[in-house]
Amino acid sequence: MNDFTNLGVKAIRDGVAGGDFSAREVAEAFNAAVAGAAELNAFILTTPDHALAAAERVDADRAAGKPLGKLAGVPIGMKDLFATRGVQTTAASHILEGFEPEYESTVSQNLWNAGAGMLGKLNLDQFAMGSSNETSYFGNVSSPWRKEGTNAAMSPGGSSGGSSAAVSARIAPAATGTDTGGSIRQPAAFTGICGIKPTYGLCSRWGVVAFASSLDQAGPMARDVTDCAIMLEAMAGFDPKDATSLDMPVPAWEAGLDADLRGKKVGIPREYRMDGTDPEILDSWERGKEWLRDAGAEIVEVSLPHTKYALPAYYIVAPAEASSNLARYDGVRYGMRELPEGAGLQDMYAATRAAGFGDEVKRRILIGTYVLSAGFYDAYYNQAQKVRALVSRDFNEAFKQCDVILAPTTPTASFPLGEMSDDPLAMYLNDVFAVPASLAGLPAMSVPAMTNKDGLPLGLQLVGKAFDEQGVLNAGLAIEQRAGFSARPEKWW
Ligand code: GLN
Repeated sequence: MNDFTNLGVKAIRDGVAGGDFSAREVAEAFNAAVAGAAELNAFILTTPDHALAAAERVDADRAAGKPLGKLAGVPIGMKDLFATRGVQTTAASHILEGFEPEYESTVSQNLWNAGAGMLGKLNLDQFAMGSSNETSYFGNVSSPWRKEGTNAAMSPGGSSGGSSAAVSARIAPAATGTDTGGSIRQPAAFTGICGIKPTYGLCSRWGVVAFASSLDQAGPMARDVTDCAIMLEAMAGFDPKDATSLDMPVPAWEAGLDADLRGKKVGIPREYRMDGTDPEILDSWERGKEWLRDAGAEIVEVSLPHTKYALPAYYIVAPAEASSNLARYDGVRYGMRELPEGAGLQDMYAATRAAGFGDEVKRRILIGTYVLSAGFYDAYYNQAQKVRALVSRDFNEAFKQCDVILAPTTPTASFPLGEMSDDPLAMYLNDVFAVPASLAGLPAMSVPAMTNKDGLPLGLQLVGKAFDEQGVLNAGLAIEQRAGFSARPEKWW
């Protein structure tokens, strides 16, 4: 029998369309793989019936000669930050445990309309706050990867760590992620898969549990660049229900894939050579330049002078928005309620929030409330907004000299679970290379480059001009074709 779990999005879609196998067979194979991988803790909830029902619809449509969608027959994992109608949606928080939305997020609806089915709701850092998947109320996800010769559980990255673990363990061909300050790219880099965060506004935020609304973007995580292009085409699109959604047609990124970079300039930002960056990361960056040069691109040095202020600015803007967005969880409207004996309304709010939010979420709410408070608003929030404008301006200037920027995705490879969980500042540094593109709202992708001396994957990041997903995907494809990354985690689960 064909081992369907070795197939990616394109292979499944084409095989189903061509009648090589049925969508049902594929869904059954992935449902079984998910059921056999409980030790990874990648899913908060599995939904095998959803995957089967979608597959049966596709098989019936095909038999009836009806046109098939872009993702017909592809079962995917859904980050549990997307509201799914009638299916528990938690954001990995106790406060939303048991919440079954009465509506479907636009992105997930787009995927179902394209013929995809859902294997389950994927674990994540609580409210997408974190870089290691250790802030989930439902327990951390374990990366399928381990350091060669050790058994220590490693971080799959965060916040989309269930997504990265599931795709790299081949229990899902693709998954959705969200990226506010690196949550698609960093976990993709840690697990040897691809992930793209599109231009802000390309994927609707409607029905996605809000973290920091001016930064949140959905995007795909998949095994290769082509699969990401296919997924993104299905996810993106104008949505009048999201006031920041871009009213423009979705480009045909898959058809536009082209790894010939002749005539293109690739910018290398000087300021991304930071102290403390792992020498093997710098080595992967050097290789990346060689690969892109080999694809015909010219490599030029560029400057992004405000890079060092991006991370501190992010950790003001994102918590500020989070403190406001999370005010809605009060024990009245969603999920859990704590009502101590004789408690009044205020006591109920306080008790619900104290019991419902995890420590990292509380930290963000406290920081956010502080930086927005009357006495400190100008000193922190307004300053951070000005820095954000300068970071954007840096990119605008750099893109006068180049078409796409190449940088590492992360300063280190994956680390053992527990290693940084007591040191929030060290944890925040994981996103030092990811956050600038988020602040500027630009498309950015991580592509696997190589494994390090411990056998762990390292990713390279490509950042493009606004709306130039195609340029990012094409440069990613050029790297993918030359890196020849084929390492896979050894199965221990
Ligand atoms: N790790 C970053 C944070 O904790 C980014 C998270 C994200 O992109 N959702 O805020």
